[in-house]
Amino acid sequence: MTCSSCAVGIDHCHGTLVEHESGFVECTDMACLSFGIERHSLVIDCETVEGGCGCTDHVRVLSKVDPSAMGADVPQEQLLRA
Ligand SMILES: [Zn+2]
Ligand SMILES: [Zn+2]
Ligand SMILES: [Zn+2]
Repeated sequence: MTCSSCAVGIDHCHGTLVEHESGFVECTDMACLSFGIERHSLVIDCETVEGGCGCTDHVRVLSKVDPSAMGADVPQEQLLRA
C-alpha cells in the first residue's frame, strides 16, 4: 500500500490508531512502532471500533464494584492486561 506520505518518505503508519477511554492508545497495524497521532491518517475512539471495545464495558463494570474493594485486591498483572 502506498500513499502520498510513502512517496515522500515521511514516517507514518497505515494502521488505524485507536484511542481508548483510559488514554491507552493502540494501532491496528501490528508492525506499528510509534503511536503518535500525527503518524496516522486514521484515528478513532475505541467506542467506534467495530463490535465495540471491551475497555469501556470494563470500566462500567468496575464502577459498579464497591470502590473500597478496588486497587489493593487487583493483581498488578491483571491491571496491565486490562
Ligand atoms: Zn503511506
Ligand atoms: Zn477501548
Ligand atoms: Zn500505527
